[in-house]
Amino acid sequence: MSLQYLPWEPPAIGAAVPIAAELQWVRLPVPGSLGHINVWLAPGRRGRVLIDTGMHQPDTEAAWDALAASAPLAGGLDAILVTHHHPDHFGMAARLARRFGAPVRMSEPARAAAERAQAPLGGATPQGLADYRERWGVDFEELFAKAEAREVLGSIVSGLPVPGPAIREGEVIAELRDPWRASMHFGHADGHVCLHLDQAAVVISGDQLLPSISSNVSLYPGLAAEDPLADYLASLRLLAQLPAETVVLPAHGQPFRGAAARARQLLDGHAQRLRQILAGTGEPRTTAELVAALFGGRRLDGWNRLLAYGETLAHIGYLHGRGGLERLAAGGEVRWRACRADVI
Ligand SMILES: [Zn+2]
Repeated sequence: MSLQYLPWEPPAIGAAVPIAAELQWVRLPVPGSLGHINVWLAPGRRGRVLIDTGMHQPDTEAAWDALAASAPLAGGLDAILVTHHHPDHFGMAARLARRFGAPVRMSEPARAAAERAQAPLGGATPQGLADYRERWGVDFEELFAKAEAREVLGSIVSGLPVPGPAIREGEVIAELRDPWRASMHFGHADGHVCLHLDQAAVVISGDQLLPSISSNVSLYPGLAAEDPLADYLASLRLLAQLPAETVVLPAHGQPFRGAAARARQLLDGHAQRLRQILAGTGEPRTTAELVAALFGGRRLDGWNRLLAYGETLAHIGYLHGRGGLERLAAGGEVRWRACRADVI
């Protein structure tokens, strides 16, 4: 089955519309090319349970002022569930927890990642930065500085909320009226939670499975994962097993059916990128040359440059870890040379 978008009219920014399984679909603004994030209100035991929160910024605050006064939230919020620690998902969590008196629940690895992300340089230590320079030939201190990640993160996340009970793999979430089950994924973000309502064949996929863009998979200092691409590919293979009728509710874009088809497209996309790196390293290449080869057509500055380096390194690391690329270090420079093609 191919990917099929559901013919549902997306809500206006800040509005809630009812969809499957008595969920309310809410859209909140996100700056840049993303434009929006989808968040979800599900029936709780007394009021509603919110899944993801929006980014902490004035127009999201304004949207929440309107939502707080709307009918779906007449009974308040019982809990806030966060799929992962990225600012568009987690940014308003502390603020909404205070406003609604609701506990914030996320997985333990996601919580740890949120704490690291609040630290300077994304939690990277001087030793970690030095190791990356040595091992990968990339100066992440400079990349972080140009991305101004510290200033940006300081304002678009409303702080760390008081931790609620951690969401565990396989847990049926007690705050939700219906038996939603959590699955935990890695690769895009540590401990990314997807929520499954098997009886209605609905999954809230967060950023783990998106219909029209590929989620960033990055290797950079301060990250807990050592091989995020392998983690992400493993997660895609799991999501490819969802029944064909499953309605996927992604954090960005339109709800769809065809999880397996979309997961296979994304798997193919990463395999193609891996092949591109091997094809481009018959002669030894630096990491910077490979970033240019993969992302050369796009203008890269600040944040996008950091993501492009992270994504390229995730693919280099995957190949190097499996013997597909050889690391050649000489004169303070690191170059990569293809040595085996049967690792993809
Ligand atoms: Zn994300």
